[in-house]
Amino acid sequence: MANIKRAAVIGAGVMGAAIAGHLANVGIPTLLLDIVPREETEEEKRKGLTLQDPQVRNRLAEAGKARLLKEKPSPVYHKEVLELITPGNLEDDLDKLSEVDWIIEAVVENLAIKQQLFENIEKVWKRGTIVSSNTSGISIHAMVEGRSEAFRRHFLGTHFFNPPRYMKLLEIIPTKDTDPAIVDQMKAFAENVLGKGVVMAKDTPNFIANRIGVYGTLVTLQAMFEQNLGPDEVDALTGPVMGRPKSATFRTLDLVGLDTFVHVAENVRSNVDDPEEKAAFEVPDVLKEMVSRNWLGEKSGQGFFKKV
Ligand code: NAD
Repeated sequence: MANIKRAAVIGAGVMGAAIAGHLANVGIPTLLLDIVPREETEEEKRKGLTLQDPQVRNRLAEAGKARLLKEKPSPVYHKEVLELITPGNLEDDLDKLSEVDWIIEAVVENLAIKQQLFENIEKVWKRGTIVSSNTSGISIHAMVEGRSEAFRRHFLGTHFFNPPRYMKLLEIIPTKDTDPAIVDQMKAFAENVLGKGVVMAKDTPNFIANRIGVYGTLVTLQAMFEQNLGPDEVDALTGPVMGRPKSATFRTLDLVGLDTFVHVAENVRSNVDDPEEKAAFEVPDVLKEMVSRNWLGEKSGQGFFKKV
């Protein structure tokens, strides 16, 4: 069993905050780090706060933690477990990563950003600490190209599903460099402590669940246009009546984030050779248009549905 006593999650967005919440649920003190915002909000300016103030510097991680109390169903067993989550930022708190046993990356779905982050993490990384990515489908081995062999031996994909407290599936994606003992430790910890059902996946574009799921969503979207249906009608058909009690197609997309979905679909399109498969993962313009209008789903208040 992995000796994971303390953890850090990097990226306090939809998934990062909720993964930190689930770690806190099982009693693990967790650092939750995000970037330092580029500028103060109008409200912060009115209060006389500047980019030097911790309140501003930690704003994104603080907001991620605060969301855990507002979301329904709740990502945490009880509000008291939130005391185990310490928000911070990647500039002031990077050194603290040397004090944890597991670092989980959950930042935007972008290879270059993830690669840069792992380069920075390695500077403070201590041997023995497991490092993993929550990517939805980007190549795990590509993220750590250029990192030391020791770091790569401790590195793997741990793909949680949204919402992490409730979704039992965890895909574990080792690379050819991952130490098999680390894989075993992670699997045992995920099953015995986090309560997950682990599926081992190969490091192929979008692994298993998202290779199938994203395709299914794109086909559903196409059918909606062809048959002139609305998202609510499609959701009525693809929710409880199909044995998915909590979510259907478009409510799930709003929960996932439309920007994330577009990145994840494009990841397959740009990484497969078969022209038919490439075409199948083409994202319709309407989705790209929604993203360009900041209709990202629940996180921006508007997606296929308006958040009320
Ligand atoms: P999100 O957009 O909600 O949050 C991303 C976070 O990354 C933000 O808080 C942002 O401030 C931070 N960030 C941006 N640039 C950064 C940088 N340079 N360094 C560090 N942090 C930075 O995204 P999300 O939905 O939480 O997705 C995070 C990861 O989890 C992605 O890899 C995504 O593919 C994966 N994932 C998402 C879902 C889902 O349902 N949304 C499910 C499984 C996996």
